[in-house]
Parts: sequence; C-alpha cells; structure tokens
Amino acid sequence: MRYFISQDMEGVGGLVSWSEGIQEQRELITGETCAAIEGIRSVDKEAAIVVADSHGHMQNLLLDKLPQDVQVVRGAPRPLCMVEGADATCDAALFIGYHAPAGTLHASMDHTFTTTIYEVLANGHAVGETELNMILLAHLGIPLIFGGGDEQYCKFSQEFFPHAVFVTTKWATGRYSQRTLMPEASRALIRDGVANATRQLMTRGRTTLADEQLQGTLQHEVLATSPSTWTVRFPTTSICDVAAWIPGSLRSGGRELTYTSDEPVELYRFLMSCIVAGRYDKDL
Ligand SMILES: [Zn+2]
Repeated sequence: MRYFISQDMEGVGGLVSWSEGIQEQRELITGETCAAIEGIRSVDKEAAIVVADSHGHMQNLLLDKLPQDVQVVRGAPRPLCMVEGADATCDAALFIGYHAPAGTLHASMDHTFTTTIYEVLANGHAVGETELNMILLAHLGIPLIFGGGDEQYCKFSQEFFPHAVFVTTKWATGRYSQRTLMPEASRALIRDGVANATRQLMTRGRTTLADEQLQGTLQHEVLATSPSTWTVRFPTTSICDVAAWIPGSLRSGGRELTYTSDEPVELYRFLMSCIVAGRYDKDL
C-alpha cells in the first residue's frame, strides 16, 4: 500500500518552543518520522511511503537518516502546504508531530498554520490543521489512520477521528512548557501505534476506513458537507483588509472572512492566501 506521512514539529516529543536549537529540532523531528516508517514497515513490507516535510520552511528532515527508498516533499511555499504530495493513489494518511489549534488551553505551541490566524471554522466548527488537511484528503478517499502529538492535540482531533490511533508524546502546562517523554520513548510509542494503525488498514481496507471516517454528525459536517464554508478570523483588521482582496471571499466582519466552495482545493488555496495576507500586518 501507499502511505502519506505529514511531519510537523510542535507535537514532537522533547521540543517545547520555537526557539529550540535548529539541529536539535531536525534530529528529533527526523527521529519521529523514522519511527513511523518503521511502524508501517513492521506490518506492511511492501509499503511505498511519501513524507511531506511540513514545518516552517519545510526543510527539516535529515535526509541521510531516512530509509533511502522513501520520497520526501520538501521546501516552501507550496500550494497544498502540509498535504502536498498526497493524491488519490495514497491509501492512508499519518500526521506526526502535530499540535492543537490556536487558542487551545495548555497546548504545545498552539496555532493554526501561522500566528497571524486567530481561528478557522469549517462549516461553523472550530478546527485545526489536522481537520483542514483531512477535508482535502477525505475528498480523495484517504483515511487518517494515525496522529501523534501533545495531549491537547490528541484530545481535540480524536473527536473528529474516533477510529484513528492517537499517541501522546507530551503534556503541556503552557504554550512553551511541557512535561515530555524522552525521544526514544516517544519513538517507541509511535512505532507501536503506527503498527497497530497499519494492521487495521490492512485487515479492514482503505475504503471501509475512509467511509467510516465520514460517519457521525460532526465528521460529516466538517469533512463531507459540500459546498463547504470556511471562516477565517484574524487577530487584526489590517490583515483582514488585505485578505479580503482574495477573489470570491466575503468580508463577514472586521476581522472575519468567509469562502464557500464545493472544491476542497479551492478552500485550501483560500486559506493559504489568508496566510500570505498575514505578512502585511503593518502600516504600509
Ligand atoms: Zn509546525
């Protein structure tokens, strides 16, 4: 089978702030990707794997440390951001090192894509990166089988994906302070959790898992409603002034913009453009 891994940083065990040393970040991030790959391959020997390096400038993974028969999507900016490289040939998605949405209490480095976004709602529900990414992937019939990150991330996203395996790597006491597992312990949990998720995928099949993922009112409203409306709230009116130039968007408040489409890719592009608008939060 074909697996798509999206690797972020804020939920990686051991990393507690954005000011951690860059080399340490790269090593710990790569360690969790490798653990996930080992977990998949302990069950599915034939697995083909694509990894999207999905944090910051998206050049974090130490390529020499990865198995040399995987492929990596690397660098930014890119139109599909954290899920660039996923297509309908992928049988399952795994999100590693993920974190809770902006505004979550006691969550590791909580944010939604960037600190210039206050909140994102999908069809009225406040969501995070996992849910927004999965709207795109669910449309391609790809199920989320595994999520790894801090405690609040797992709590939040488990509600939307009750059948996926979630593994907690650390427990936050503040945005930049956490009690964390040691890197090896975190990797061991990821390896086992991913192996379980892969076993489930191989026994029950991609289609069954993808269908199951859309069941339940919350999941259906967020992942499968078409057309879908995304609402982006910004911390300032000035960012929203610029974001409102996005064709097809509707200014629904001083700091609020909405966009409706039956095409998840279009909605995702709207969101990416809102992120770019955040660069203009100043007196021009
Ligand atoms: Zn990140």
